[in-house]
Amino acid sequence: MEQFVDPKMLASLAEVYRLTMRLTLVCVVFVPLERLFAAHPQRIFRKQILIDLAYYVMNSLIVAMFLSVPIGLMTWSLQKSLPATILTLTTTLPVWARLCLGLVVSEVGYYWGHRLSHTIPWLWDYHVIHHSAEQMDFMVNTRAHPVDLVFTRLCSLAPQYAIGLGGLATGEGSWIPIVLALFGLFWGYFLHANLRWRFGLLERAISTPGFHHWHHTLNGPINKNYASTLPWLDWIFGTLHLPKELPDHYGVSSAVPDTLLAQLALPVSPSAPSLRRLKRTTKHETALPQLPKITVDELATEVDSWQKNDAR
Ligand SMILES: [Zn+2]
Ligand SMILES: [Zn+2]
Repeated sequence: MEQFVDPKMLASLAEVYRLTMRLTLVCVVFVPLERLFAAHPQRIFRKQILIDLAYYVMNSLIVAMFLSVPIGLMTWSLQKSLPATILTLTTTLPVWARLCLGLVVSEVGYYWGHRLSHTIPWLWDYHVIHHSAEQMDFMVNTRAHPVDLVFTRLCSLAPQYAIGLGGLATGEGSWIPIVLALFGLFWGYFLHANLRWRFGLLERAISTPGFHHWHHTLNGPINKNYASTLPWLDWIFGTLHLPKELPDHYGVSSAVPDTLLAQLALPVSPSAPSLRRLKRTTKHETALPQLPKITVDELATEVDSWQKNDAR
């Protein structure tokens, strides 16, 4: 009997089962909540929902594969450059302190990685896919180019590993980054959900859908609320925007293709937002009229003649 069971096939089936169960759990939690406490009236099967589902499967399968090598390299180089006392100190902390420290350093790493994705043009070419959603719901959380996802995951994981929270330094496995990653994954679905829940004053301490919906606004102010779970980081770095109301429209002004393959190819295609902007700028600069060079004396004579003409 054993010869008929292919271990690779079993592993693939287990992966499919894990992905299906996770999606079912997320749907069981968020579909009823979005029906009961919707921020905006909208259908479950909105435009692009199938593409977001494809991102869910694709990113779940390939991102972990591409993370291990860069994480290993980054951890090694960061740990070499930090004083050894930091690593020793971290491993002696109680569990709750290591969790809190892990959350803060991963959030700082995520904040700056995310902010760079909005300010460096070639990184925005990848991140624009996530922002192209025109309606917000929990599945928008999955909508991300794999390169964008790997980059932001690296930015949040590397600082944790660098100071010895799990991974190479402790030799105890990576349970703190795993716990934080699972919490971040669930919170990501919550932040994107079509929910009108706000936490009052607590909203400055822990992020809400309202906080992240403003990050996705179409009409501005744009480039606000970069944090994932700790909005006070945006307050410290001057990017917090938390009005009482929610945005009316979501998405980006630049054109993003409708199909999955075209979206995946967008950053390396001639339609990439950074290339289009560059072309527009070059065209604009060449179209500017060439003004004649004129000295101050010539200008004074010219003005004098205008005044004389006006006086007539
Ligand atoms: Zn963003
Ligand atoms: Zn988002």
